[in-house]
Amino acid sequence: MAERKNPSVDDVMNEARTYIHDPNSLALIERAASYAAGKHAGMFRKSGDPYFVHLINVAYILATLRVGPTTISAGFLHDVIEDCNVTREELAEEFTDEIASLVEAVTKIGNLNFKGKDDPEYQAANHRKIFIAMAKDIRVIIIKLVDRLHNMRTLDFQPEASQKRIAAETLDVYAPIAHRLGISAIKNELEDLCFYYLMPEEYYHIAHLVETKKAERDASVNKMIADISTILTKHNIKFRIFGRSKHLYSIYKKMVNKHKRFDEILDLLAIRIITKTELNCYETLGYIHAIYKPIPGRLKDYIAVPKPNMYQSLHTTILGEDARIFEVQIRTEDMDAIAERGIAAHWRYKEGTRYDAKVEQKEIEDKLSWFKDFATYSETEANTSATDYMELLQKDVFEANVYVMTPKGRVIDLPAGATPIDFAYRIHTDVGHTMVGAIVNDAIVPLNTELHTGDVVNIKTLKGTGPSEDWLKIVKTAQARNKIRAYFLKKESEKREEKIAEGEKSLTDELRKRGFDPKEYMERKKIDNITSGFQVSNYNELMYGIAVKSINVGLCAERLTNVKQRVSEDETLSRVLNKETVHRVSKSGLVIPGIDSMKMSLAHCCLPVYGDEIIGYITRSEGVKVHRTDCPNIKNEKSKLIKVHWDEGDADRLYDCDLSIISNDRPHLLTDIVNTISQCKVQLESINTNVNHETLTSTVKVSIRLRNIEQMDNVIANIRKVESVLSVDRTTH
Ligand code: MN
Repeated sequence: MAERKNPSVDDVMNEARTYIHDPNSLALIERAASYAAGKHAGMFRKSGDPYFVHLINVAYILATLRVGPTTISAGFLHDVIEDCNVTREELAEEFTDEIASLVEAVTKIGNLNFKGKDDPEYQAANHRKIFIAMAKDIRVIIIKLVDRLHNMRTLDFQPEASQKRIAAETLDVYAPIAHRLGISAIKNELEDLCFYYLMPEEYYHIAHLVETKKAERDASVNKMIADISTILTKHNIKFRIFGRSKHLYSIYKKMVNKHKRFDEILDLLAIRIITKTELNCYETLGYIHAIYKPIPGRLKDYIAVPKPNMYQSLHTTILGEDARIFEVQIRTEDMDAIAERGIAAHWRYKEGTRYDAKVEQKEIEDKLSWFKDFATYSETEANTSATDYMELLQKDVFEANVYVMTPKGRVIDLPAGATPIDFAYRIHTDVGHTMVGAIVNDAIVPLNTELHTGDVVNIKTLKGTGPSEDWLKIVKTAQARNKIRAYFLKKESEKREEKIAEGEKSLTDELRKRGFDPKEYMERKKIDNITSGFQVSNYNELMYGIAVKSINVGLCAERLTNVKQRVSEDETLSRVLNKETVHRVSKSGLVIPGIDSMKMSLAHCCLPVYGDEIIGYITRSEGVKVHRTDCPNIKNEKSKLIKVHWDEGDADRLYDCDLSIISNDRPHLLTDIVNTISQCKVQLESINTNVNHETLTSTVKVSIRLRNIEQMDNVIANIRKVESVLSVDRTTH
């Protein structure tokens, strides 16, 4: 690689002075230079040069691109946040907010960790996208490109592995961006540098081929230049003409992509003519074609139809003397500036105009379709009207999406506001289902954290865990939401399947216990006949009900076999009865350890209250139900009754009790009843009334809660005293 002389700050200033004349602007650049020199003092590059040399180079290249003073200053300062612990605020105070935000953005992009091609998850296009999305300002992209250019020029001082990695990344991410921005000077140099580091053999091979025929080729080119000059001078056209060499990487690409031999590459002999006006360009083309035979199909008019990156020029290929083939480019000075410096030329710093970066950037974006390649639209979608397309693109690239990365450098695009949960489900459904935490940029964050472009997200998973239903409220992507829902639906149905099998098993067991052959009865058809009796509509629901005990399995077997269980067959029951144990209802109403540890509870039909005369009724599945002795529901069940009594009781326990009051209908009846109940210090749960219009009586149903039978008697006695009340009775359901 050719040795280059490092420029000095004076060189930068001289270059800047060719187009910047405002003393304040020049002073700003000088101040940025000396600030950076001070901050980086004592730091060195791997080359052994003072670090400041890198910054002068970056500023110098920026000045050759004719960018404004703010951008050159930011070029000098672009590493102070990263390397000198200067904060954005300090920079804003020392210079301007604009410079501070440019430097900050350059720093952020610099911290992106793009992994190389070896990684299977590597996606160059997405990396360009994330780069553009993070830059947000075209000046940031240009500074970053120039920074990378100088780093590539000094790549010799890096270890070989880094050389390959950096060169690969440059070829995939930076060179295409330079191309899209139309900065061919930077693009070509970057490509050749990458070529040199990535494929040294091929590089030397082509360099050698170019070199061996150089003298011969130069002679032909010089002869052609002389001939064309004579013609154009004769026709009074003002022009500059020069031969140019194709850069090595483009020769290599043509040889590989188009399967051509070196000597078949047409535009090896290339001439460029720069003239004054567009008209001159077409005139020049005409005169050349009049003398030299053009090769068919090789004329391209990029003046009438510019390339998406704003490139304009006429291209033709002609047959010279000795049947040598020349590629000729004809364009104006302005077109040439755009071809070399691309967007930077368009956006050339103009003094005296009020510069506004936003306006400028908008203009550029309107004129360029360069970031077409950075969007994910297909060719056909790109054919929608230009305005629609730009709007979509704006949304896609700059607003709606965030681009975040896996620790391996794979880029994931998500809608704005997306969370680590959305990210996890985008990686893989299983990653989403088993995620237990998220690390964003090395810090553990809550799962509802909003992700930002450039974040590196690492999802922690744990086998065997599942999503939480709360996540449905957090996620932003339909994908994540659907997957979480699907998970719960599946869980639900799995649980159901399990329960159904469980129900089948207990019914089978029950049948066997009763001496029936389950095979004979466990038939869908037979079982379907009994479902309606249990208020369910099919086999599965019945089995599910048995499993969750909402359906009594004994009753089920009974109905299925049409045979009532004989009491004597029930060992449990006879054992209990034979012992004639006295059980007690505990004050809490729950199980008390009696001899048989029977489960006990108060019956809901007659609602016994502490102090009532009670009796136990042995149920098949719910232990002993305690009823009032006068409850009509147990009148005919003498064989299943067992003696129970209250224990010492609990002063705090309240018992439910329902009363039915019949009264002659009259105004304020309910008010009087309510007042009476409250005077008795009894808790009123509900009250409602029905008027019988034939008898003109009201039936008032009251639910109350009280401590014992004494309170109950007191309440009933007092309600009976209420005017026009005919009767008060405890209700049995
Ligand atoms: Mn740098």
